[in-house]
Parts: sequence; C-alpha cells; structure tokens
Amino acid sequence: MKNIYLLIVVLFKIGLAFPQSDENIIHNIYNEQLTNSPIYDNLRYLSKEIGHRISGSEQLEKAIVYTRDLMNQYQFDSVYLQPVEVSNWQRGNKEIVRFIDSTYLNRNLNCIALGNSVGTTEEGVEGQVIEVQGLNELEKMDESLVNGKIVFLNESMDKTCINTFNAYNKVSIQREQGATKASKKGAIAVIVRSLAINNDDFPRTGYMAYEKGAKKIPAVAISTNDADLLSKLLKEESTIKVYIKLNCQTNPNVHSFNVIGEIIGSQYPDEIIVVGGHLDSWDVGEGAHDDGGGCLQAIEVLRTFKQLKINPKHTLRVVLWNDEENSWGGNITYAEKNKQTNKKHLAALESDMGVFTPIGFNIDTDNQKEFEKIISRKHLFEPYQIYQFKKGHAGADIAPLKKEGTTLIGLITDSQRYHTLHHSENDTFDKVNKRELELGAAAMTSMIYLIDKYSFD
Ligand SMILES: [Zn+2]
Repeated sequence: MKNIYLLIVVLFKIGLAFPQSDENIIHNIYNEQLTNSPIYDNLRYLSKEIGHRISGSEQLEKAIVYTRDLMNQYQFDSVYLQPVEVSNWQRGNKEIVRFIDSTYLNRNLNCIALGNSVGTTEEGVEGQVIEVQGLNELEKMDESLVNGKIVFLNESMDKTCINTFNAYNKVSIQREQGATKASKKGAIAVIVRSLAINNDDFPRTGYMAYEKGAKKIPAVAISTNDADLLSKLLKEESTIKVYIKLNCQTNPNVHSFNVIGEIIGSQYPDEIIVVGGHLDSWDVGEGAHDDGGGCLQAIEVLRTFKQLKINPKHTLRVVLWNDEENSWGGNITYAEKNKQTNKKHLAALESDMGVFTPIGFNIDTDNQKEFEKIISRKHLFEPYQIYQFKKGHAGADIAPLKKEGTTLIGLITDSQRYHTLHHSENDTFDKVNKRELELGAAAMTSMIYLIDKYSFD
C-alpha cells in the first residue's frame, strides 16, 4: 500500500515536471475566467460608481486612479501613468431640436449633439429642413437648394448586413463629415440620423470633425424613430421648420494620462506585447460596452498570467488609452512616446467591439509569416466556439502602432446587439452578460499566451 502511495507521489511529481500542453493551459485560462474572475464586479464599479467618462472629465480621472489601483492590487511588475494631452469638449445643458410649426405641436425630437460640434448661439438656429440620403446625394445637390437650410442626413444603417460594423462603417461618414460638406453649400446646421441598426427613441452621439477652413455649423443626431417621423412629415409638407439649440463647446486641451501596467518578459524584456482598450467613453450611458469592458478584459489578461503562474518570454503590457472617442489624444501620443525608447511592439491586441460573445480575431499585419503562425493555431480555439480568424481592422487605439510594423489583432464579438446601444444612454452595465465578458477575457488571454510562446522567434 505504502509503495503504491509513493508511486502516485512520484508520478504526480514527474507529471508536474513535464510542460503542460497548450490545450491544458488554454483550458486553465478559461476555467480561471469562468470560475474565479473579478471582472464582472470590477466592471460594475467602473460603470455604476464612476459612470461615463469623456476625456477631460472628472469621472475619467477617477477611472484612471481606479484602474491603476487595480493593477497595483494584482501586483503587476510595473504600473504607471503616462502623461498625455487630451481634448475637452463639453456638452453643456441638454440640447433641443423642436418642430416650430404648431401643426406638429412644437414637438421636441429626441436629440443629442455630436462630439466636437460647435454650439448654436444663445438664441439657437431655426430653418427649413432639406433631407438627403447620405453625402453622395448632398454632393450632387445644387447649392441653391441647400443654402440657408438645415440639412437632414438620413441615410440609415443597412439592416441586411450580418456584421453590423459593416453597416456602421458604410454610413458613419455622414456623421463625421456631414457638417463640413453641408456648410460648403451654405447650410446653417445639420441633423444626422442616429447610427443604430434598430428603431428606437435613443439618439446616438459620436465623433464628428470640421475640415480645416470649413465654416463650423452645429451638428446634432436625432433618434431613428424621430428620423423616420421627420422624413415622413417632410414628404407631406416640404416647408417644415425646425429649431435647434446646442450648448456644447470645445475647451482648451487638458493634461491627463494613459494607464499602463506590465509583467516584464523573462527573455525579451524590451519586446512588448500590448493588450488594451480605451478608458474614455462618450458622456452618456455608462461606457460599459464601449469600452469599459474591453479595458477590464485587458487587465484580466495580465492578472490571469500571474494567477496561473505563466511566465511570459516577452513583456506583456496593458494600456488603457485616453481620449479615443474625441481626438485620439492618448493613442497617438502613446505610439510617439514609445518611438523614443529602445522598446519594440511585436503585437497589439484590442477589445473595442462591445463585450459580447467572442467569435474570432481580426488580424492586421504586413508580416505574412506571423499571420500564418497565428492562423495555424486556430484549432486551439475551436472548443471555445471561436472560429473567425481573418485579415481586418483590429482597433483604433492600436492602429498608430502599424507604422512600427506591429502585428495588430482585434477581438471580434457577435455584433448583433452592439449597434442597438452604442454611444447612447443604453450602454450600461445591465446590458453586459457576465459570461460573455469572461469568455472575451479568456479568448484574449489565450491569444496573448500563444503569441508570446510561438511568434517572433
Ligand atoms: Zn470604443
């Protein structure tokens, strides 16, 4: 009996001496996330106790301190704040878009100013509305039809697109450039249909910008339901007038930080594998999906390495970028500052597509050999129902690293629900599924584990 016991002990010890298979390690990573992860509670705190956090806001500063403290609590080798200058656009009081014809009972439309828009004057602006289906139609339109009017850009997201990001990318240009294109033809303001795949009463904000030298006119989004209503009424009565009052303004840039934590590589400390998301959000909802969940998943990658005692060969660095939504202040500065060091980014992974069920990875690289290496291990993800490995856009925050030759990777999630809540009051913690959030963190950790082990040698 004693001999059998000894034999078991010896076998057990021998077993430990053998390196674990990739399958085993990935299995352990998933188990850690699904049974022991603090991520859901952390996201609850970030969403409910801190809330939305536009760059330049007090809430974002609180989120910076919170996530830095988390990384310290998890005992990463190095945790620090990287100074960056960020934009400081403020919405001010609630905006107004209203019919001014008594036929429509002076009804208010559900609206929200677009990020970076100028405000109106104190009196607001009013004018006749002309509807166009996107920028191409506007470009072709005679100036005399647009001059002095409010342009209503009503191109909708294509509901037949299965990947809703494709639908979003097709029409987001009208939100981003609509004001510039309309002002060139003499428009006094633009109203943009919210970028949503569904019909509801929640307006969506988002990035817009004025071309250099263009006259800055106010830009506001209305909900998809109200866009349909306005369009219907314009067909009945083309001289409908609308009143717009926006109270937003762009203040001087402010000093803030990217939040960074590292596990130092055992063999190649100066070669970096980055994982991250953006800590800022729009100033509505709670920024739970966009991109609070993505940031906390990135922190989980390093925490899981530590918890499972996996020693990376390369330095793993989590970066929570500042000011992705408004001006890319955080990610451009990050890439530039790194150039001044002797450290090289091998790969960068971002989670910024909503924290829904992970289904794959977009890979953006000119390095065909590395692309094939990543693809060659996709079978390891099959037990976890992750099948999509393809070339594609990886993420806005890691995009500036492309010039350096870094292989960029983006976590792909099931997009069906994202564009029902993106950039709206509905991006809140209760819309996050705990299990989906954890599965995303596990998929990211597994990918980083494989890249650290096999790539770039
Ligand atoms: Zn985002």
